[in-house]
Amino acid sequence: MLIDNHGRTINYLRLAVTDKCNLRCFYCMPEDGLNWLSRTELMSYEEMLRACTLLVNIGIQKIRITGGEPFVRKDIMQLLTAISKLDGLQELSLTTNGVLTAPYVAELKEIGIRSVNLSLDTLDAGRFFSITRRDEFGAVMTTLEELLKHNIEVKINAVVMDGKNTQDIIPLVELTKKLSVSVRFIEEMPFNGDGKIHQTKLSWDYIRILEEIKQTYPSIKKSRDPAYSTAYNYHIPGHTGNVGIIAAYSRTFCGTCNRIRITPQGTLKNCLYDDGVLNVRDLMRAGNNDDTIKDTLLNAFNNRVKDGWEAEKLVQNTGMHESMAAIGG
Ligand code: SAM
Repeated sequence: MLIDNHGRTINYLRLAVTDKCNLRCFYCMPEDGLNWLSRTELMSYEEMLRACTLLVNIGIQKIRITGGEPFVRKDIMQLLTAISKLDGLQELSLTTNGVLTAPYVAELKEIGIRSVNLSLDTLDAGRFFSITRRDEFGAVMTTLEELLKHNIEVKINAVVMDGKNTQDIIPLVELTKKLSVSVRFIEEMPFNGDGKIHQTKLSWDYIRILEEIKQTYPSIKKSRDPAYSTAYNYHIPGHTGNVGIIAAYSRTFCGTCNRIRITPQGTLKNCLYDDGVLNVRDLMRAGNNDDTIKDTLLNAFNNRVKDGWEAEKLVQNTGMHESMAAIGG
């Protein structure tokens, strides 16, 4: 088992396979996109598989594939299939915007993916367009239907944005009446990739989001949060699904943080709010053998910051203007 210098278990890797995305969610990246990574900057699938293999060997049990949008990277099913076969890996899951995902759902089920996070900030097609700058609401809803049809557990991730989609909170909660989905509201984080500093004070924090839900559903009850949960979990009596609230900006969950991240160009992040502690791709391309790379990784895990506030302080440019697509959500 991997334990960090603060006594926390590390067993969860989030691997971003590309920085590219087919949506332009305004809170994540500028309308013109980012300066996309070149092919040589991106880790190859071989490198990603090697990194995953080494990490599973030293204690990672769960891998989530994210991006950018995983399905815009060519032949993504090849990588998913290879990772799904790793000895010792207990769970493979992915986060997707659902635009291109529907045709792959049966295959995802076949390779053993039991849970998918689907990003969906509104149930209104017009607002979907104004948030994402793309007319793809129908495609995302088709993916939702396909996932449910194939009995894949669905967690819907909705970022709550002042003046943009707070009127969607209750309609999204209402999805849980009949559908076996978990709708999770995420505090907006200052990662929109436009180079400017945003949001000194968050107006929709986890407390206000819960208050908003309670106005319509005063009977909402707190559920037990599973180990390492980043969400506060709730259930409304009589509903099939569940509700969660993720204090991503308030950072109330760092004390149990079990996760590490690898960006598409191989940067290892010990914390969402740090700017990378080493580069796995470069370690591999420098010709290091597996043991050396494992030792270097273990050393990094032994030097993790206490929490996201400390990480943010250490980042020299505290503007935090990176795009979430370059980090992996
Ligand atoms: N393309 C995939 C998707 O849309 O699910 C995976 C990558 S996306 C960067 C992962 C998650 O990060 C999404 O649920 C998205 O809503 C969330 N995200 C992106 N920017 C964010 C921000 N500024 N604040 C909070 N969540 C954000």
